[in-house]
This record gives sequence, C-alpha cells and structure tokens, in this order.
Amino acid sequence: MKLQQARKVMRGLLGAMLLSMVLAALLANMVFALLSVILLLAFISYTFSHWRCPHCGEFLGWNLGKGIPFCPYCHQRLDL
Ligand SMILES: [Zn+2]
Repeated sequence: MKLQQARKVMRGLLGAMLLSMVLAALLANMVFALLSVILLLAFISYTFSHWRCPHCGEFLGWNLGKGIPFCPYCHQRLDL
C-alpha cells in the first residue's frame, strides 16, 4: 500500500518535471527551467527516502515500470 502510494507520488513528480522542461524549452522561460531542476531534486530525494523495501528497508532502484514482485535483497514479497 505504502509503495503504491510512493510510486504515484514519484510518477506525479516526474510528470510535472517533464511538463516543466517542455514549457521551459518552448517558452525559453527561466522560471520553468528552474522549476524543472527543483522538481528533479524533489523526485530524487523523495525516491531515495520512500522507494524502499518495507521488510528490510533497502532502496529498490530506479525501475518504476512494471513493479517489482519480490525484494532483490531479502526476497520477501512486495505488494505492488
Ligand atoms: Zn527487502
């Protein structure tokens, strides 16, 4: 449950960052460029603190795609 929620937030941050990057490029706007950097840093720090195995606490890496059925470290089932 917590991991699914974390993934939603991560995807939201990533989507907002991409949108901001596109706007920065299209409008040549420094505000959006700066916002993109801030969102990227927010995404990285959020991922490092929340994208962890609920059993052993290891970081699960940057693969957010299909979900990870088992923790690669302790091999316990992850509810994704
Ligand atoms: Zn684990």
